[in-house]
Amino acid sequence: MFDNNIHGQLFIGGQWRDSDSGGRTDVIDPSTGRVIGTVADADVADADAAVAAAKDAFVRDEWAGLSGRERAGILHRVADLVRENADEIVRLESLDVGKPVALCRQVDVVTTAEQYEYCAALAQTLDGATRKVPLNAFAYTRREPLGVVAAITPFNFPLILSTSKIAPALAAGNVVVHKPAEDTPLSALFMASLFEQAGIPAGVVNVVTGSGSVIGEALLKHPGVDKIAFTGSTSIGRHAASVAGEALKPVTMELGGNAAHIVFEDADVEKAIGAIIKGFVFNTGQFCMGGPRLLVARPLYDTIVRILADAVPEVPVGAPRDPETVVGPMAADRHVKKVEEYVALARQEGGRVICGGERIDLNGGYYYKPTVIADLANDSRVVQEEIFGPVLTVQPFDTEDEAIDMANCTPYGLASGLQTTDLARAHRVADKLQAGIVWVNDWAMLDPAIPFGGVKDSGFGREYGPEALASYTKVKSVVVSLD
Ligand code: NAP
Repeated sequence: MFDNNIHGQLFIGGQWRDSDSGGRTDVIDPSTGRVIGTVADADVADADAAVAAAKDAFVRDEWAGLSGRERAGILHRVADLVRENADEIVRLESLDVGKPVALCRQVDVVTTAEQYEYCAALAQTLDGATRKVPLNAFAYTRREPLGVVAAITPFNFPLILSTSKIAPALAAGNVVVHKPAEDTPLSALFMASLFEQAGIPAGVVNVVTGSGSVIGEALLKHPGVDKIAFTGSTSIGRHAASVAGEALKPVTMELGGNAAHIVFEDADVEKAIGAIIKGFVFNTGQFCMGGPRLLVARPLYDTIVRILADAVPEVPVGAPRDPETVVGPMAADRHVKKVEEYVALARQEGGRVICGGERIDLNGGYYYKPTVIADLANDSRVVQEEIFGPVLTVQPFDTEDEAIDMANCTPYGLASGLQTTDLARAHRVADKLQAGIVWVNDWAMLDPAIPFGGVKDSGFGREYGPEALASYTKVKSVVVSLD
């Protein structure tokens, strides 16, 4: 069970409390399919209470009123607590999402601590500018916090993706209501207890667990919410952006992806294979910035397909608590069913399944074999749509222009990547790829200083980097007459 260290309650105004209705939701361990506990199932009254508590904290000015250096000190304490509590965070995130413990420790915990540290530094840089103007006036700008931020996050990286909103929002002096995905609420609740320990004032961060269609929707529509920071699917994001647009609220939209990974004929093949496999199996393929579409220069096509057929079945798939595991279960059974449907569709669409292509029967968990599918046409649904599982399609191309067209041909534009030893080509192709981030000769190189976010149906706005901090502020100009 998960509950020795976290409250399965809502965290509102610095208090742990049951939902207004008293409802509870099951939490399931995806590695066994078994219920491991319950958490509070919030309803609209709880969302209202959380927004009211956040607003009250904002008005009290105990957080925004601190200097950047004082806020930075507290954010550093959060980072320290994350590192000190790494074992418990790994345990919870692994139980909740099925993340392999070794990867969770290296990636989720470290990235979270680093984001708080980076945002602590940014908190101290937050300032305005003086503007020399041809008026007899002294003009300057101030960067002010927006107020109440509703952070709505998905199931696949619960900790990292909530941090990518909460850390910059807090650094800029905002207050937050966080709604984690209903399937994966545990790390959000544990973090609430760390925020308390770090000395973040009551009401500055509130966590409400429950369903998107009830409390997510309530937060989108709430007049007390000043910004929506959303990460999730393109379909829900489109809806969220339209609701926020009606109320003229600023939004950050981090949505779906279906990245292409291009291997040119001059690539270092051995290095490329490592990046290709990492790009599609990382987080069991539940990675918005994964590289599920492999485009290979025709002279290398048969070789790369053959190498993948040998190498992919060797990737260790298994129980998340086994330190050797690289690929764990998917986070919910419905995600495995979706992958099964896409692989069946690939077969109908003329795809050749090179390896994988089936579930793994292990302890009742939600496992699927890493799968490689060759020979699909570019307009097949399996190539065009986001599968969000451990599935790689492989297609050949003949020219650089064709590779770029194929890479850009889906509605998404979150990430893209290429393998080449030709430096000029690397820059030329990166320039043409429609994506928020382009990796050259590796995959998933991320850092809190490197902004990421999408174009086209992958959304807009950027997380990470100073760009994220700016998106949690509004600029006020002050012009003082000197007459
Ligand atoms: P999702 O179904 O869109 O859910 C995302 C969040 O929205 C969840 O907290 C969900 O709550 C909530 N939600 C659902 N309906 C809502 C509504 N009507 N109003 C407000 N909130 C609502 O996405 P997911 O399946 O969790 O995550 C996978 C998707 O996220 C993929 O498409 C992936 O590419 C994308 N993603 C993007 C990024 C990025 O940085 N661009 C990063 C990670 C994931 P419930 O879960 O409780 O329903």
